[in-house]
Amino acid sequence: MYRVLVADRVDMVLVDMLRSSGFEVDYRPGISRDELISIIGDYDVLVVRGRLRIDGEVLKAAGRLRVIARAGVGLDNIDLDYARKLGVRVVNAPAAPTQSVAELTIGLMIAAARRVVELNYMLRSGGVWRKGYGVELYGKRLLVVGFGRIGRRVAEIAKAIGMRVYAYDVVDVSGVAEAMGVGVVGDLREGIGMADVVSLHVPLTPDTYHMVNSETIEWFREGAILVNTSRGAVVDAAAVLRGLEEGRLYAYAADVLEHEPPATEAEWRLVRHPRVVLTPHIGSQTREAQRRVAVETAKRIMEVLGVGQG
Ligand code: NAD
Repeated sequence: MYRVLVADRVDMVLVDMLRSSGFEVDYRPGISRDELISIIGDYDVLVVRGRLRIDGEVLKAAGRLRVIARAGVGLDNIDLDYARKLGVRVVNAPAAPTQSVAELTIGLMIAAARRVVELNYMLRSGGVWRKGYGVELYGKRLLVVGFGRIGRRVAEIAKAIGMRVYAYDVVDVSGVAEAMGVGVVGDLREGIGMADVVSLHVPLTPDTYHMVNSETIEWFREGAILVNTSRGAVVDAAAVLRGLEEGRLYAYAADVLEHEPPATEAEWRLVRHPRVVLTPHIGSQTREAQRRVAVETAKRIMEVLGVGQG
């Protein structure tokens, strides 16, 4: 029978599904790297989230491992090339958090437009009842950069609010976009230049690293709102800060930072800036998303090992 080590905290549905299909599951969330290396040799399946680095050292100790399952999306903590060389399959649950991240994106967008955090902070800390002005999203132009799973869901919700939505992507998304009533822009500069709100939904790659930088920040319209729930390093924090300080950006709303928690002076200044709404990478931190992650991950493990569901 297959032995599974669950090395991070997951929704227990994952454990229950595997057990009811005959797997022997050890649930050890919080296990240290050294401990992991010392026992991994006994397991066929390893389930992790983003906490542990599954590199060559770990994989060398994993004599009988057949599957690494990332209960979530990002695979940046796993040495994929090395795993492939050893014939270890890596699976994840890419679609599970889409709705949760899309909802947070829209929430951040509204919070930024209506200055929810800034005005709430004034009320809480100084008892200042100030009716600060905001802006509506209705009728505004939204540029979705990266028209994949999350980008498309954000576009749908934004359209329901009455935003005029445009997509920019490196692959041809014109068919889907047209069916959704979303415009397509072929040039990022032109797209950013006409948008009232820009929302980033690209993966972090060498091409998207610091996509918003000291040069591209100049492309934004005066008073634009920038939203980033993708990966922190897609923007250069110092450039965004400058955009805010020079008044070009009305607000920055994000769920991610290049360093989490913040590590650079620019990041700390961003966190404390009144026109910044920042959450600590909670995009997929909902009960529903974690449940979907658990179900999806268990299914993928069983699929790879050819085990039917009990
Ligand atoms: P996806 O793969 O479905 O979509 C990404 C899209 O970006 C694709 O259409 C791709 O063609 C496009 N793209 C790639 N490079 C590009 C470039 N240089 N310019 C323009 N478009 C480009 O991914 P997804 O599931 O929609 O996730 C989007 C992002 O959200 C990822 O960065 C992911 O890591 C992040 N994410 C964040 C959280 C969170 O907790 N905040 C949770 C899940 C996912």
